[in-house]
Amino acid sequence: MSLSNDLHPDPSLHTRQHFASDNYAGMCANAARWFQIASTSGHEPAYGDDRWTQRVSDQLRELFQTDCDIYFVFNGTAANSLALASLCQSYHSVICTSVAHIETDECGGPEFFSNGSKLLVAEADSEAARRGKLTPDAVETLVTRRNDVHYPKPKVVSLTQSTELGTVYTVEEVRAIAAIAKRRHLKVHMDGARFANAVASLGCHPSDITWRAGVDVLCFGGTKNGLPVGEAVVFFDRTLSEDFAYRVKQAGQLASKMRFISAPWLGLLENDTWLHNAAHANAMAQRLHRQIVHLPGVRVLHPPESNAVFARLPPLAVTRLHAQGWRFYEFIAGGGCRFMCAWDTTPESVDAFATAIGVACADL
Ligand SMILES: *Cc1c(COP(=O)(O)O)cnc(C)c1O
Repeated sequence: MSLSNDLHPDPSLHTRQHFASDNYAGMCANAARWFQIASTSGHEPAYGDDRWTQRVSDQLRELFQTDCDIYFVFNGTAANSLALASLCQSYHSVICTSVAHIETDECGGPEFFSNGSKLLVAEADSEAARRGKLTPDAVETLVTRRNDVHYPKPKVVSLTQSTELGTVYTVEEVRAIAAIAKRRHLKVHMDGARFANAVASLGCHPSDITWRAGVDVLCFGGTKNGLPVGEAVVFFDRTLSEDFAYRVKQAGQLASKMRFISAPWLGLLENDTWLHNAAHANAMAQRLHRQIVHLPGVRVLHPPESNAVFARLPPLAVTRLHAQGWRFYEFIAGGGCRFMCAWDTTPESVDAFATAIGVACADL
């Protein structure tokens, strides 16, 4: 442990848990166990022809109760960018919110890998938009605004589940948006970097908010749920995955020792670990919310529905918390602070952080 402390001048970085991102957390024991099993099981075929990759793909098909096509990539940016590229020609466009990760945090990856498909950002001034969600009306407005050749042709609706603002689309909301999409001949992409948190929050079957509701392709996040690395791209409409393997390879996302991405997924799927991890992170966000919602100076933006709490704090309180070494982001949600809980966030960490927030705000 002294090694990791020596690597950073601020020891508080390592001696406590943080609320910046769920990817601050390590890998869960079950994922680590399968990583180890794969590592000690001798030689295996490379590039995804190994038995771990086959096995977890079969288990994901069982989980979703459908015969889907599954690919593994290193991260969410690649999963989203390559999935969208496979749905679009360069003259197409992708409808999303103004806070969508594909819009704000992928450095133009979706546009780059699709050779120029444009992201069409929905109006940001509705109640739904303030909670990070698209609505059927917002989609309809963008699709019907123009139909001439000068406008990039809408081809995909992209939903983030759970959203960048910690909210969750209900089954009915996903269905309603997908219904508009189908009517307008759009494909439906789901950025599921925190898909597990949404399923845990809704208590639904994973198929209910994906293919049964009309989702064509899901980027199923593993990293934030307790993997060391790795996301699954799940094509429910298998006609859309044609040549996807080539895209993955060309983008430098084809792991030669793919078993080290796929085997830990077996750990997530075993005994519903993925759901337990997500439910725990969600519960920690609820706990944090309960403790700070009535603090003077704190204004929670909306009740958490997954594993993040968004709140406005007095600027001096933010400065104080940062000076004490607490890590959290402020730039998401237009100035609000984002407090993100992970699969391993402890109740004690939540309580200590909530206390620190209370003290930092007390005299302001
Ligand atoms: C974390 C995240 C991703 C994936 O990001 P990478 O850093 O590329 O793995 C994608 N979408 C959302 C909403 C995320 O929060």
